[in-house]
Amino acid sequence: MPSLDISPSPLRGTPFLMSTFQDLGLNPELLKGISSLGFETPTPVQEQVIPRALEGDHDLIALAQTGTGKTAAFGLPLLQRIDPNAKGIQGLILCPTRELCVQVASDLVNYSKFAHQYKVVAVYGGAGITGQIAQIKAGAQIIVATPGRLVDLIERRAAKLENVARIVLDEADEMLNMGFQESLDTILGAATDRKSIWLFSATMPDEVRRIASSYMNKPEEIRIGGRNETNQNISHQYYLCRADDRYDALKRVVDANPGIYGLIFCRTKNDTKEVAEQMIRDGYNADALHGDLAQSDRDRVMNRFRGRNLQLLIATDVAARGIDVSEISHVINYGMPDEPEIYTHRSGRTGRAGNTGISISIVTPKFEEKIMQIARKTKANFERLPIPTGVEVCEKQLFHIIHGIHTQEVSEAEIEPYMPKIYEELKDLTKEELIKRFASVEFNRFLAYYRSARDINIGAKSGKRREGEAGGDGFARDRERSGLVRLFANIGDMDGVTKKEFLSLLTGEFKVPGSAIGTIDVNRAYMHFDIGQDFVQTVRFGLEEFTINGRRVRVDEASARSGGGGGGGDRDRKFGKSSGGGGGDRDKGSKWGGKPDHKRRR
Ligand code: AMP
Repeated sequence: MPSLDISPSPLRGTPFLMSTFQDLGLNPELLKGISSLGFETPTPVQEQVIPRALEGDHDLIALAQTGTGKTAAFGLPLLQRIDPNAKGIQGLILCPTRELCVQVASDLVNYSKFAHQYKVVAVYGGAGITGQIAQIKAGAQIIVATPGRLVDLIERRAAKLENVARIVLDEADEMLNMGFQESLDTILGAATDRKSIWLFSATMPDEVRRIASSYMNKPEEIRIGGRNETNQNISHQYYLCRADDRYDALKRVVDANPGIYGLIFCRTKNDTKEVAEQMIRDGYNADALHGDLAQSDRDRVMNRFRGRNLQLLIATDVAARGIDVSEISHVINYGMPDEPEIYTHRSGRTGRAGNTGISISIVTPKFEEKIMQIARKTKANFERLPIPTGVEVCEKQLFHIIHGIHTQEVSEAEIEPYMPKIYEELKDLTKEELIKRFASVEFNRFLAYYRSARDINIGAKSGKRREGEAGGDGFARDRERSGLVRLFANIGDMDGVTKKEFLSLLTGEFKVPGSAIGTIDVNRAYMHFDIGQDFVQTVRFGLEEFTINGRRVRVDEASARSGGGGGGGDRDRKFGKSSGGGGGDRDKGSKWGGKPDHKRRR
């Protein structure tokens, strides 16, 4: 079960007007379809666009942010105006990304599940063209396409646009940003018999104006919120810090929002990779999305994020285009964009579908003026907040833990057989002692890390120490004094690794003397251990020669943060689906002696 504390209601906080979908002129089958999806009241963009799009052949420009319900605003009237008996492509929707194409096509199929089975086909680059051609030939009535792939299909005479009556340009500003100008010209030029264009855009830059003036006939402009204005459901906050404290400030902000489901923006691919790597090393449930990833890796990361198995997605602007995840709680600008329009797009990834959202910027004083500029252009209110102190982070975490315990679902049948043993084990503890211990399991980790964390607000008196360095973390300090280095390995209890066996592996296989071995903490999916500086290379490279249960063993230097607390918390466990399995009792025999599931790689 996902354990996010974000309300699932898609309508929270939306100032919808009072008309109903029936009032808008939709046919009963489509009404049944959207009602089955839980749409009860039209959103403002639906209320304004649907009646106009159902009648006559006017061109429309709707200025609406993503997440305002625009897919149904164009999708429902488009479906209603398709002649089920006519052949050929009648409706065309152009979207900037493959993800959006797939999403829009599937939304249309869902809206019409009680109506005529319209043939909706999604075509986009990065996938085989032959299958797409076959689908079009099988009688597509509506095509949802990225412009580049559609031009390819037109050139191969596989997509004929002569019968297209209605064209939707979805996220027109994004398409033009992505360099689809020429493709749009080709497509709009090929759709010779079109009756109307419905253009949807969050912003109205000159390139969009040019498309409107070249191809549209006296378009009616519908504004949901003013031009370039940001969504009212989003609050804008910023934190000021010194340049070399930016990463620590990011961690503080994330740690002070324990239920965060966030998208972190960086300006470059390299920054994205670096921040993601650093966050993963520091124990966060994070991953990167950038242009160097193969499509299959992109899909894998996006599926994890969408399925909430990934809590923080770190992305470039280009890679994040088309991300349609409706319940992102926070957008964090780790690298500020140059253009206010890009800020609007970034922040528009939260506060979708009537949810509230928070857009955070972490900036150095040099960039404060940029914030002011964006505020003027977008008319958003930016609030400067102090970077949370270590104590504040611990307090937030503590109450998150307590709330989590309170709302924790119990698998009665599964836990029942263990209860007598658990009662027996804990029988000498009072209720107060028990509560304290349960709360401390996770809390200790944050406490140890943040115990003497410095104030990183601009102007605060503080030393130069970086977060988690010796000085803030008593464990790290002790290790440093004794010449031990803390290592992390991606193996744990669930692989059947025990402290005893690991110790004998260190002393036997790697010949590390007992005096150069410190604490060994075996957690469920990973472990930390302290080893003398002189043996780090031998142990590290030695262990990395192994696979365990078919998985490569990976060893890294542990950051003070993930290693310091000794609380043994596993961040993944708090988030998303439980990864299940993995009792410590499984396979108590030695894993470290050449068992079939534990082989040297070479
Ligand atoms: P969109 O702007 O089309 O991407 O829509 C954003 C989200 O709002 C999607 O998850 C839709 O399913 C949802 N949505 C759209 N219209 C409504 C509505 N009238 N009532 C409830 N949810 C809606």
